Amino acid sequence: MSYKAINPYNGELIREFAETSNEELEAALKKADAFYRQAKTEPISKRAELLAKLANEFTNNIDKYARFMTTNMGKRISEARGEVEKNAAFANYYVNNGEKNLKNQTYKSVAGKKAHTEFNSIGTILAVEPWNFPYTQIMRVFAPNFILGNPVLLKHASIVPECAQAFEDACKTAGLPEGAFKNLFINYDQVNKVIADDRVQGVALTGSEKAGAIIAAEAGKNLKKSTMELGGTDVCIVLNDADLETAVKGAVSARLNNSGQVCTAAKRYIVQSRIYNKFLAGIIEEFKKKKLGDPLDETTTLAPLSSKTAQKNLQEQVSKVIAGGSKVIWGDPTPVEGPGAFFNPLIITGMSSANPMYDTELFGPVAQIYKAETEEEILKIANHSQYGLGGAVYSSDPKHAQKLATKVETGQVALNQPLSSNPEFPFGGVKRSGYGRELSDLGIREFANIKTVLE
Ligand code: NAP
Repeated sequence: MSYKAINPYNGELIREFAETSNEELEAALKKADAFYRQAKTEPISKRAELLAKLANEFTNNIDKYARFMTTNMGKRISEARGEVEKNAAFANYYVNNGEKNLKNQTYKSVAGKKAHTEFNSIGTILAVEPWNFPYTQIMRVFAPNFILGNPVLLKHASIVPECAQAFEDACKTAGLPEGAFKNLFINYDQVNKVIADDRVQGVALTGSEKAGAIIAAEAGKNLKKSTMELGGTDVCIVLNDADLETAVKGAVSARLNNSGQVCTAAKRYIVQSRIYNKFLAGIIEEFKKKKLGDPLDETTTLAPLSSKTAQKNLQEQVSKVIAGGSKVIWGDPTPVEGPGAFFNPLIITGMSSANPMYDTELFGPVAQIYKAETEEEILKIANHSQYGLGGAVYSSDPKHAQKLATKVETGQVALNQPLSSNPEFPFGGVKRSGYGRELSDLGIREFANIKTVLE
């Protein structure tokens, strides 16, 4: 297993990190357990103060933290700054609301008995995280669990080691107690060891369906609670009565942000027939404006993919999509040569369920477009998927959009806007996009012992 930061813009090796030894791992588990026991004796307000300091550390050093993302996985520098700010916002949500989210709830039985539930910490949580949002994915697990009193051990994606290290360093700088958070450069066998350890009581994974199935099985074998935030083939539904400009703008940003490497990216545009031609012309116009370039350059509008491996995988997938009968209606599918992990944006049509690549998550700037006559047809295409993460519906009548949103089989739907994550709102999917929710009051209770006390 190698933890290497390689700049996907030019292929340069920036830094390599040594693997965590089993002795170091045992020390981390011990310290985490000690934090868990100590936190039980302390008020939430103490941890909220420390979490606020961590949020400040990020907001006071936006450029420093942003740069690690840009050089490790190619995020455009302006998007990277935005992520650092969002990271602080996720922390601050739990600073301001964590205690309220964990307030006792009261119950009454038909027979007149009373009870309440309290939310107790359960122990160490392992977070297994992907590279596409290198900080916010960590914070979504860390902030709520820290407030609750659960320490977090991190196994981050191996291509963003500087980001993983920077998060741990930020915790130290902010004065968080030892054991509250620890980054581990561990291999897959060690991940399984951590899950099996009695001190570890839960595992939160964000990543691919493949990794999710493996880690969920390990957690299940050990009877540990897990949450799975996995991939998707989210839809962007554009109805005949949609405002064209709003739909085009939303659809393009939802597909091309982060170079298309977003779990909730609009991977399938499903467009009603009367607006189809104008919508297609609109998105082609916007796609044309995107220029591949150095993600550190403020004028770049489309960054490279996260790695040469990601580039190769997507090239292979697109070749199979075309061999399976679909067509590129806009863009150049010829591989981009050179050391950078660049990928030309593409718009693909003619995807049918007969194509072996139907329902495959394409993690990059590749949009699929479908034309549909009726709303029944739209919903049939939308719901004909093993995934169920998110989606969006565009209609100038919000009630009309809402009616369709209810029928879309996903964990979240946005009306007349691209789907986004907000600390106040629950985030998660259904079907093979996983289970459990992050963020909001639901996220902080995922790894709580919801203890019922009969009064
Ligand atoms: P990935 O390959 O599944 O990796 C995710 C994490 O799991 C990484 O830390 C990876 O470590 C680890 N991992 C993979 N296989 C493992 C195994 N057998 N045992 C232990 N750990 C293992 O996913 P990715 O390529 O980083 O991220 C892209 C995927 O994440 C996409 O499918 C995307 O849709 C999904 N995603 C979902 C959400 C959501 O909230 N639903 C958010 C963001 C991304 P290594 O790097 O060392 O392999």
